[in-house]
Amino acid sequence: MKIASVHTHILDHRLDTPFASASMRFDRRTHCLVEIVCEDGTVGWGECLGPALPNAAVVAAYANWLVGADPLETEKIWLTLYNALRDQGQRGLTITALSGIDIALWDIKGKHFGVPVSTLLGGRFRESVRAYATGSFKRDGVDRVLDNAREMAGHRAAGFHAGKIKIGFGVKDDLKVLRAVRDAVGEDMRLMVDANHGYDVLEAIAFGQRAHELGVDWFEEPVVPEQLDAYRAVRAGQPIPVAGGETWHARWAMREPIATRAIDIIQPDLAGTGGFTEARRISDMAALHGVRLVPHVWGTAVHIAAALQFMAALPPNPPRVDPIEPILEFDRTHSPFRQAIVTRPIEAVAGVVAIPDGPGLGIEIDREALDHFRLRA
Ligand SMILES: [Mg+2]
Repeated sequence: MKIASVHTHILDHRLDTPFASASMRFDRRTHCLVEIVCEDGTVGWGECLGPALPNAAVVAAYANWLVGADPLETEKIWLTLYNALRDQGQRGLTITALSGIDIALWDIKGKHFGVPVSTLLGGRFRESVRAYATGSFKRDGVDRVLDNAREMAGHRAAGFHAGKIKIGFGVKDDLKVLRAVRDAVGEDMRLMVDANHGYDVLEAIAFGQRAHELGVDWFEEPVVPEQLDAYRAVRAGQPIPVAGGETWHARWAMREPIATRAIDIIQPDLAGTGGFTEARRISDMAALHGVRLVPHVWGTAVHIAAALQFMAALPPNPPRVDPIEPILEFDRTHSPFRQAIVTRPIEAVAGVVAIPDGPGLGIEIDREALDHFRLRA
């Protein structure tokens, strides 16, 4: 079996209502898919986390080493590509691009053997996962307190057992938002907060100390990801469990936060941290150190399907009859192509998402939709 060609597809949509996290403003939804075609006609799909055009450029650079290679040799290919750009790479785009390729190769491998990726990873511990709603961004010209409370109450009514709100816009305002959301959803819904590294250490500690009484499951990316000492200070200075990891790529970046317990919950992203090949190493590392793992997900159905295959094969840690983890991050912000590009959308029913059991990622791409949402120059 040989790889014949490598392609990228840039999906793009201009948003009517832009929204923002503490660190990024979204005027458009733009995502990069990877398509790998084999000489026997087998096609695999992957997705890269982060800026689509630079990701596509790096995928194109990797194509030199891919064409003619055996797609079943995922470990060998991973190392070949990593080494190819290692001296100027190691993190960031070189790994997010490699992630999209690795996901596509595992999709091919699953299709070749006629089994889901989760079976290749060692077997399915679960057929479905509970999802948590990610939303409550800051929207232009809208009262954040009312808007976020209304939105989360809607997710609660739709059956989500948990939801995550965006903070990092100022401690006082963020506390107001959190109080309003808690009032709107009641005591039973799990709530998480995500500062998208918008606080400094003192702000993060001040927020965490006051927010704790409102019942917060985790405090995501309180401070900038380069400063693990700052993470440790936040963890020591306030009582909410600290989460992070969406910007840490590959095992080397994950090692220190996990091994030194700079975080309580590690959040590797399948499409960012190096695909299935690398994510399984990271999950082993997390299990070894007793750190909880909840994958980060921010993308289309291809990305969600990859996360689901990985989560199906995650060994329960610790093993118990009714494990509460892992839970799936389910982005509820507007994206017209998120599910339109697959023939069977991956939806939450009463807050629960079934894990596809078809070969590979278990999805089929709708090429008409792909073309419809393609970035036009
Ligand atoms: Mg986040």
